[in-house]
Amino acid sequence: MLLAILASMYAVYHGPDGIRLRAQRVRLLTSVFGKALQQLGYTINAEPVFDTLKISGGPRTQATIRAAALAEAVNLRYYDDGAVGVAFDELTRLNNVETLLGIFGAVPNAVDIKALAAATDLAFGGPHDRQSDYLTHPVFNTYHSETEMMRYINKLQSRDLSLTHSMIPLGSCTMKLNATAEMLPLLWPEFAALHPFVPADQAAGYQELFRRLEKWLAEITGFAAVSLQPNSGAAGEYTGMLVIRAYHMDRGEPQRTTCLIPSSAHGTNPASAAMAGFQVVVVACDEGGNVDVADLRAKAEQYKDTLGAVMVTYPSTHGVFEEGVLEIVRIVHQYGGQVYMDGANMNAQVGLTSPGYIGADVCHLNLHKTFAIPHGGGGPGVGPIGVAAHLAPYLPGHPLAAGRVGGKKAIGPVSSAPWGSASIVTISYAYIAMMGAAGLTRATQMAILNANYVAARLDPYYPVLYKGANGRVAHECILDLRHLKDVISVTDVAKRLMDFNFHAPTVAFPVHDTLMIEPTESESQAELDRFCQAMIQIREEIRAIESGAADPHDNVVVNSPHTAASVASATWERPYSREQAVFPTTWVAEWKFWPPVGRIDSVYGDRNLVCTCLPIEAYANKE
Ligand SMILES: *Cc1c(COP(=O)(O)O)cnc(C)c1O
Repeated sequence: MLLAILASMYAVYHGPDGIRLRAQRVRLLTSVFGKALQQLGYTINAEPVFDTLKISGGPRTQATIRAAALAEAVNLRYYDDGAVGVAFDELTRLNNVETLLGIFGAVPNAVDIKALAAATDLAFGGPHDRQSDYLTHPVFNTYHSETEMMRYINKLQSRDLSLTHSMIPLGSCTMKLNATAEMLPLLWPEFAALHPFVPADQAAGYQELFRRLEKWLAEITGFAAVSLQPNSGAAGEYTGMLVIRAYHMDRGEPQRTTCLIPSSAHGTNPASAAMAGFQVVVVACDEGGNVDVADLRAKAEQYKDTLGAVMVTYPSTHGVFEEGVLEIVRIVHQYGGQVYMDGANMNAQVGLTSPGYIGADVCHLNLHKTFAIPHGGGGPGVGPIGVAAHLAPYLPGHPLAAGRVGGKKAIGPVSSAPWGSASIVTISYAYIAMMGAAGLTRATQMAILNANYVAARLDPYYPVLYKGANGRVAHECILDLRHLKDVISVTDVAKRLMDFNFHAPTVAFPVHDTLMIEPTESESQAELDRFCQAMIQIREEIRAIESGAADPHDNVVVNSPHTAASVASATWERPYSREQAVFPTTWVAEWKFWPPVGRIDSVYGDRNLVCTCLPIEAYANKE
């Protein structure tokens, strides 16, 4: 989604005319370069050509061209059949074309580029010329100066209740600080402007970074080897399960395709297992939210001939350090299966324990959760997997980095680039480098402490659903609102939190009618206290409904969030004050996030997709 936003902003800024202009320029330069090459005696691919030429024949061989290109610090594509590929984009300049002509053996000024340009017809002719209009919506035709664009982007951004406003307590998502110092290197051209398939000797710095990061992640997870290739947690699960599958096949046990998954698992677990060729068998959870070890043992025994793996999350998606985890590992190994640990909750393990120490065979990490890569709105993520030594040979390879990535019996690539979303691993690298071992361990301790602080403060108001044997939670906690179901919904509380400047916690996952809160180590006690006060005040507001003091259908909770427009209206017919609606605490009165819209019917919206295009008449009027 982040990448989609980038692309959409490109279209908003340049608009239909700007995009056409850029395309025409690319077409012109490519066409001129092609004609010049033909003058030199080369053969190029037939029209229609937009931005890419495949070049063969001519005075210089591929080897000569390659040497000349390298001398000019230019990378071209070298086909197996001896041809050379060149592609232009909107950053290509006239002097790049001149340099390229030199690389292909032209003497300076031998080609009259201006004359060739003047003789070029930009139209493709036939079916390739676009006849219809495009990007006609006003949004693509309004913000074409940098100032306008800045304000447009800032307007959109300021409608978003983000980490720059307050804690985002989304359980399971680990919304921690994405420090500026960690993110700056991402912008350096040495990282940002490198193609994933440049020759190995041009990316030595990246290689060093990968090696160090892999080593650190191996140490953190307690594993022998790490692959940075998967692009998300779910992709890591899929990769890990393929590795397990390859291991069983290699050992002559292709029938091991049963995968045990507890009912508490994240939805991606069964999806990844199924995609990797496993049949999912669900294991029950007990009253305390823990994996029902007796049920697991029974199913492992029942499927002992085909048992391939278990997928287990630790601490569990219920926010508890499952005490049965060692027993689960032992049972699955005893029956010939491999243990896949979902490492999305690694923020509760780093420095204190590790998947390898617990006895798992594979785990994925979400670098965009535990290791500080920002992930609001989804992607780009990094979901590396760590594996024990016996699985290292199967780590994914890549045909364009053969021998440089993956194990000796590598499974095929799981991403289009050999090291996945390479540029953003700089963020996790910087995070680990700056935190150091002691800092990372301290972060884990603080994350667990913060979650337990919130759990202890809020338990009297909203019972904490699952706790470990000592009455503690891990790095997140689930608040039970099921007993309030007849009075308000969890959504009401989530929306009311917005009036207090807070983003909603995770709603109804993994248990219906609950809120899951994960504060992370990034939050100060002052912020935790503000959040708890908001939750407690909302509980009082709910109590007023319960006692009959507030109207069950017209009260400050069910009408939330309150927009500026709603309280600035001439009439106010609510049974509570405007102040109570929008300034429920002193800190909100002092600095207010105004929710841009009030309540929407989410379910209706999900079921009734609408296009936000203008009505057709608007286009007619413009004509
Ligand atoms: C986030 C998460 C995943 C999936 O990770 P993505 O990077 O979103 O694909 C899997 N399991 C758990 C427990 C998670 O919290």
